[in-house]
Amino acid sequence: MNTARINRRADGKADGPWIWVNVLFLVGGPIAAAIMVPWYLMASGSHWALWATAFALWFVSGMGITVGYHRLVSHRSYDSNNAWKVFWLIAGGAAIQNSAIIWSNSHRRHHKEVDTDNDPYNAKRGFWWSHMEWVLHHDETAEDFSTVPDLTKDKVVMWQHRNYNAIWVATAILLPAALGLMIDRVWGMILIAGLLRAVLVHQGTFCINSLAHVIGTQPWSTKDTSRDSWVTSLFTFGEGYHNYHHSFAADYRNGLKWFHFDPGKWAIFCGEKMGFASGLKRTLEPVRMKKRLERLAEEYFAHLDQMDTVAQADWRTRLETTLAASEERLGAWTMRARRAAKSKDEQLHAALAEAEEHFHHAWVEFQNLGKGARLAAA
Ligand SMILES: [Zn+2]
Ligand SMILES: [Zn+2]
Repeated sequence: MNTARINRRADGKADGPWIWVNVLFLVGGPIAAAIMVPWYLMASGSHWALWATAFALWFVSGMGITVGYHRLVSHRSYDSNNAWKVFWLIAGGAAIQNSAIIWSNSHRRHHKEVDTDNDPYNAKRGFWWSHMEWVLHHDETAEDFSTVPDLTKDKVVMWQHRNYNAIWVATAILLPAALGLMIDRVWGMILIAGLLRAVLVHQGTFCINSLAHVIGTQPWSTKDTSRDSWVTSLFTFGEGYHNYHHSFAADYRNGLKWFHFDPGKWAIFCGEKMGFASGLKRTLEPVRMKKRLERLAEEYFAHLDQMDTVAQADWRTRLETTLAASEERLGAWTMRARRAAKSKDEQLHAALAEAEEHFHHAWVEFQNLGKGARLAAA
C-alpha cells in the first residue's frame, strides 16, 4: 500500500489558474456563513421554520448528489424514468456543485485514474487538495465531454447542463426567499436555508474525496487509497463505504449490509418499489468474495516476512495450497451464480447452493491457516 502524499503534481506540470468565482464562493462562503448567521440570530432571533427548511433542503440537495449525480448519472448503477431523473438532477443542482455532466466527467476520471495526476481529486496530493483545492483551479478536461458520450446523448442530463444556473438560483436562493416571505424572514431563510445549508452540503460531499480516502478500513482492496468508514457515511448520505465503492463502482449500494447507513441506497430501493427506478445493479456474492480472498491472501502472505527461512517455506506451501483450493471452488461458484442469476431453474439453484458450501469450507480453512500464520509470525 502506497500512502505517500505530496502536495504537488507528480509529473511536474503546473495546476490550472485559480477560478476566482469558485474561490469567492467556496472560501468566502463558509467565512460569510460563520459571521452572518450568528449576527442574524442575535439581531432577529431564531425561528423553527428556518432550521426545518435548512434541514429539508440539506437532505434533498445532498441526496440529489448521491442518488442523482453519483449513482444514476456517473455510474449508471440503476435506470430510472424521466420524472425521477429530473427530480434528482434539480435536487443535485440545489447543492451548487456544477451540472451533473461536469460533475460526472470529473468523477469518472477519479475512478479510472484514482490516485494519479489524471485523477482530478488525487488523494495523494494531500487532504486539502482532494477536499476542495482542486475545485479552485481551472481544469481544461472538466468540460471535455468526449469521454462521456453516453451522457451527451442523455436528454435530461443535457437539459440540466444547459439550465444549471437557473436551477441553482431558483432552488438555493429564490425558493428559500419565497418561503421566508411567508414568515417575514427573507434574509434569515437566504442565510440559513440558502448559504449555511449550501456550505454544509459542500463540505459533506468534499469529505468523500478527502476523508473517505484517509480514515477507515480497507477490507476490499489496498490498490488505491479509498477507505470504508461508517463515520464518514453519516454526513455523506451513505458514501462513506468508499473502499467498497471503488472496488465495485457499478453497485447501486455503497453500504453493502442492510444496517450500513446508506440513505442513497434506501432511496433507490424505494424508488424501485414505487416504479420510478429499475435495473438496480448488485455485485454477485462470489465476485465480492474474490476481492476478499485476494485481500486476505495479501495480509496472510505478509506474515511470512517475519518468519525464519524454514518456517517460511512450510507456511508458504500450506497457504498456497489452501488458497488454490479456495480459488478453484470460488471459480465454480461464480460460474454457477452467473448462470443462476438469469434463471429460475431449481436444479441450477441447488447446484449453486452446493458450490457455495464447497467454497465456504475452503474459505474457513484458509482463514484458520491465516490466523495460524499470524500467531507463528508473532
Ligand atoms: Zn474516491
Ligand atoms: Zn463513484
